[in-house]
Amino acid sequence: MKEYDVITVGAGPAALSCAIYLCRGGKSVLCISNGKSALEGDMKIENYFGFGSISGSELLKIGTEQAKKLGAEIKNGEVVGVQMGQSGYTVFTSDGEYRCKKLLIATGRTQSVPKIDGLDGFIGRGVSFCAVCDGFLYRNKKIAVLGNGVYAKHECEVLMQMGCGVTLFTNGKELDGIDFPFVIKDKIASLSGDERINAVCLENGEKIEISAFFVAEGTAGATDLARKIGIFTSDDGKYIITDKNGRTNAPGVYAAGDCTGGFCQVATAVSSGALAANEILSELR
Ligand SMILES: Cc1cc2nc3c(=O)[nH]c(=O)nc-3n(C[C@H](O)[C@H](O)[C@H](O)COP(=O)(O)OP(=O)(O)OC[C@H]3O[C@@H](n4cnc5c(N)ncnc54)[C@H](O)[C@@H]3O)c2cc1C
Repeated sequence: MKEYDVITVGAGPAALSCAIYLCRGGKSVLCISNGKSALEGDMKIENYFGFGSISGSELLKIGTEQAKKLGAEIKNGEVVGVQMGQSGYTVFTSDGEYRCKKLLIATGRTQSVPKIDGLDGFIGRGVSFCAVCDGFLYRNKKIAVLGNGVYAKHECEVLMQMGCGVTLFTNGKELDGIDFPFVIKDKIASLSGDERINAVCLENGEKIEISAFFVAEGTAGATDLARKIGIFTSDDGKYIITDKNGRTNAPGVYAAGDCTGGFCQVATAVSSGALAANEILSELR
């Protein structure tokens, strides 16, 4: 497996800015993106230094070309997990694994928690957002996973490896590019239980008993990935906590851009990517 000095999860302005500095510092960089930057689209950016007026997608294209020219590899793919090793990190994607010495999480804004009646109240009491963190608590038990894409499938597989009996609940959606043997596509009306969650109630009146409910909707956001390696997040679970140079509490892991909260703009994303690169370069030296 090829090892890079740095992998960035994301290839938006924060990750690309970091990659540009790192490449110029002679480091090997892989940026992995599922093509969902907040900049993708026709919106006009009129407040970014030096450009007057430019569409988001054009600005992103220019930044991507600049990083590539300097030597950054940019791969399409969805990151579904990260794991700490003895001397770096392994990044798991929809179609392969990559290793790096340092990791930058720059996945943009975290998605909001799905609105399902009862879900909020059971967080920490059977509702979980991280299979690798909490799956062992539910060995040999019946587990629900919410989602319909590669991230959800990855979480199902992690739970199955731990001996859980897993059913994937898509909550009214079709499976998106995956297959899985145990799927319920009906809409969820609510989650029920007493002290802890014990059932998923469907809109069709069915009640399915479970011991835990793992949320894995859409793609893995910054805080989903952060939880897997014990990185601190804000109390509301939306942002990764870093110091002023992008350093998280996990050794060798940095975060930049919208996923760290604050004033979410291109200028601030670019700035935080550059600051993280500067720290990474001095750590690698
Ligand atoms: C409609 C709109 C208008 C805006 N207008 C302005 C404006 O006028 N001026 C301005 O300065 N800012 C504007 N912004 C904000 C600006 O777009 C963001 O602040 C900026 O893009 C943040 O950069 P980022 O790199 O942190 O995140 P993003 O640009 O969101 O990039 C995130 C990257 O992470 C990738 N990613 C996420 N999860 C995964 C995963 N699991 N696996 C692989 N890849 C993943 C995405 O594909 C993407 O490459 C606007 C945003 C929106 C939505």
